Amino acid sequence: MLELRNIKTFYGNIQVLKEINIRVSEGEIITLIGANGAGKTTTLMSVCGIVPPRSGEILFMNRPINNMSADRIVSLGISQVPEGRRIFPYLTVAENLDMGAFLRTDKEEIKKDMEYIFGLFPILSERRNQPGGTLSGGEQQMLAISRALMARPRLLLLDEPSLGLAPLIVRQIFDIIKKINTENKTTIFLVEQNANLALKVAHRGYVMENGQITLEDSAENLLSNEAVKKAYLGM
Ligand code: ATP
Repeated sequence: MLELRNIKTFYGNIQVLKEINIRVSEGEIITLIGANGAGKTTTLMSVCGIVPPRSGEILFMNRPINNMSADRIVSLGISQVPEGRRIFPYLTVAENLDMGAFLRTDKEEIKKDMEYIFGLFPILSERRNQPGGTLSGGEQQMLAISRALMARPRLLLLDEPSLGLAPLIVRQIFDIIKKINTENKTTIFLVEQNANLALKVAHRGYVMENGQITLEDSAENLLSNEAVKKAYLGM
């Protein structure tokens, strides 16, 4: 579904991604793990067109997207949940969800999707008329994921969904990520610093160090890999 081929991405003249190769098959959850500053967020930014790569190619459904604008990429079926959530604090929960569907015109289907989301996250249904900014951190993360789902993406990019949240909430959110993948058949590209959780939910994983992919394997193998255990799983 998605293929990054020899991606090099820069901020000014500082090269952050050094020939990255990643592929994501339809129906998978893949995770990209790595330390702070390794280049994980930049990888997602390159895919969604916010920080386009300087060289290499990104294919989505066999079509090059690396020279497309970010809104064109959304229209093809890629939605991102950015690090730090970035919901609209003064809009209500329902209005935030509407914003996620801004490229769609199928009103009846939009309504159905909103009800599906309220089923996934009943707390958002209870708070549908409340401004997004008054929600707890965990609820805002749920809203950010839900807003992205309102675009009906084929591929969902999730950047650090566990960031700053209590363990119980993180577990709930990861259960829902799994559910979105299995029930809704959404392919997921998950960036996480919590490698343990990410590898438990993912099918395959990539390890990134200093802008390079240093390991690629099934999540199961990565969980038992000695180097991964030592560097990322605190064992
Ligand atoms: P974290 O988990 O801390 O978010 P990360 O693996 O996602 O880390 P990136 O955010 O992709 O890493 O950052 C990779 C490198 O690029 C870092 O050295 C960072 O300082 C640098 N960087 C990120 N954004 C910018 C920017 N807008 N301008 C210049 N340098 C940047």
